[in-house]
Formats: sequence, C-alpha cells, structure tokens
Amino acid sequence: MAEKKEKKLVAADEKTKTAAKEVEKNMKQSKPVGDSAPLRIGAIICWIFALLCEVGAYLILVGKFNLKFLPSMWQIIIMLVLDLILIIVGASFWKKANHISPASEKNKLKFWLWNNMGVLVTVICFVPFLVLLLLNKDLDKKTKGILCAVAVVAMLLAGAGSYDYNPVSEEMQKAAVQTLGDETVYWAPFGKVYHTHKDCQALNQSDTLTYGTVAEAIAANRSRLCAFCARKDEITGVATDE
Ligand SMILES: [Zn+2]
Repeated sequence: MAEKKEKKLVAADEKTKTAAKEVEKNMKQSKPVGDSAPLRIGAIICWIFALLCEVGAYLILVGKFNLKFLPSMWQIIIMLVLDLILIIVGASFWKKANHISPASEKNKLKFWLWNNMGVLVTVICFVPFLVLLLLNKDLDKKTKGILCAVAVVAMLLAGAGSYDYNPVSEEMQKAAVQTLGDETVYWAPFGKVYHTHKDCQALNQSDTLTYGTVAEAIAANRSRLCAFCARKDEITGVATDE
C-alpha cells in the first residue's frame, strides 16, 4: 500500500517573513579598544614559554631531562606541540596589539618586524631544535624521522597561524580615523572589512553585525573599508579591500 506523502505547505506570506527577517539583523556593540601594552606583554610571556618548550624538547632529546611517565619521543612531541600552541596564542595577542597601536610605515625595519614578529619567533622556536635534531647521531632513524616530521609540521602550522594576513600601519589607521571619526561602522562575524552601511550588499549573508567606531573595527581585525561602501559614500584616502 502506497503511503500518502505529506507535503509541507508554505504560505506565501511566510516567505516574505523570512525575507524581512534577513533585513533585521542582530546588532552587537563592539568592545571598546583596549590597551596594547598588556597584549604585547602577554605575547612576550607566551613566546618565552615557547622558547622554554624548545629547550625542553632538546634537553629530553639529549637525555638531560626526563619526565619519566612517557617514552622520550612522546615527551618531545608534547614539547613541540606546546611550543606550537604558545607561539600561536602569543601571536594572536601581538597581532591584536598591532591593530590597536600599529607601527608606522616610515620606520621600515620596525614596521616589518612588528608585522612579522610571529613568524620570526616561529623560526627562533623551531629551527635550532631541528638543526640539533638532524645533527644528532645517537637517535635511531625511525625516531629521528618521526620527530623531524612533527617538528616541521608544527613549525609550518605555527608560522601560518602567527602571520598577520591583514596588517595595519599607523598611517592607514590615522587616515581612517581622520576620515570617519566617530561615525558608526559595521562588520560581519567573518571577513576583513568594515562597512559604512549596515544594508550594504556585501552584508546580505550575515545575520549578526557588530557596530562601533572605525578604530574599534580596526582593533577587531577589520582594517579596510568595503569597496562598495567607499564608492557609495565617495570616500577616498581610506584603505579599501580593492
Ligand atoms: Zn559595504
């Protein structure tokens, strides 16, 4: 006996209701811009511990330190994973600090250093260990191979996780603050831009929007103005996503 299939009926006005819902977005006020100094200190503390993990991994490797409850190889792997985690956590603090008080483009060395600090720390916290591991002659081939692979993968992950893909300069931040001042801007939970219009076409997909000043948007890692909004308001001189 064929069962009667029940059809789901959707009233025409229900569709309009969902459409209306899309326009009405969840609005959240941005957190105020904090101070960058504690973030930089936090980053440095994390990175010091990351360095200690590298040293710990080396000491376990040469048998000068042993936690006993696990085979040495696993102790080293734990140290390398902690090294990786601490680098990324430190870098997230550092990047946040850079978006609150960015370095000036005028000082090229400082600007480069400030934006690449996470990657630099990754190199410092992995390469010496890798070199010493490769030079080690007491280790059997298999263990050496596994440890090398783990260290290389952890290093690549740490580098990728600590690089700032959306860097800001002091000049960029100043130009945006001077142009937009205290005007309210909007940004979606994901993405790298802020908008001057909450009904911007680029925000159609987002149910939740955060609003705040442009300084708050930059601190929240939205360092560029949406190109549609810039064109609509004829804003020039502010970095856009174009
Ligand atoms: Zn926009």
